[in-house]
Amino acid sequence: MKLLVAEDELKTGIYLQKGLTEAGFSVDRVINGNDALQLILERSYDLLILDVMLPGLNGWDVLRKIRAAGASVPVLFLSARDGVEDRVKGLDLGADDYMVKPFAFSELLARVRVLLRRATPPSSQTHLTIGDLELDLLKHQAFRGGKRIDLTAKEFSLLKFMLQHRGEVLPKSLIASQVWNIQLESGTNVIEVAMRRLRAKIDDRFESKLIHTSRGMGYVIDIS
Ligand code: CA
Repeated sequence: MKLLVAEDELKTGIYLQKGLTEAGFSVDRVINGNDALQLILERSYDLLILDVMLPGLNGWDVLRKIRAAGASVPVLFLSARDGVEDRVKGLDLGADDYMVKPFAFSELLARVRVLLRRATPPSSQTHLTIGDLELDLLKHQAFRGGKRIDLTAKEFSLLKFMLQHRGEVLPKSLIASQVWNIQLESGTNVIEVAMRRLRAKIDDRFESKLIHTSRGMGYVIDIS
């Protein structure tokens, strides 16, 4: 997978390139908007990580021109600005996700993986399983040990999302944006409450637990 990082802050750019390279991606890095645009249109990348405030063309200009040229490469906006308007503007222009600096690298990596997976064609998968837990994606039904488990639509979506990212620590903010379609406000416990209910249904009565908490990081589903 080939990624392009456009970031004029050298420290951040190098940090991203290093981290993403260690995570197994091939990463090119540019420090201004004009180079970003040129490379994106010349070469094929699987994802663009784009800082908003860049010299030359800014991130918004780059994104506008990329989309105008018909390139559908997923774009993850990176910005020090956290105003709702900026976020909306980025998404309106066709960005696929938006992260506010400073961010935890683990969260950026999780979001990058989600964007890359979303960009690959949907599989014809109809069942997801882990251990003795099974999700029937067509009938929207969940079973553990062969017994039907009653889930709400949201709980089903949450469990499906976790299973699609089996073994990956999923930050709460990522779960909020991908399952609830909301930006997580600090101080709200929507995700904790939902996770507690889901665990009560999925794990409580069973010896082997599937959902685990990674303290301060998020949640992961895996066979322990
Ligand atoms: Ca910048």
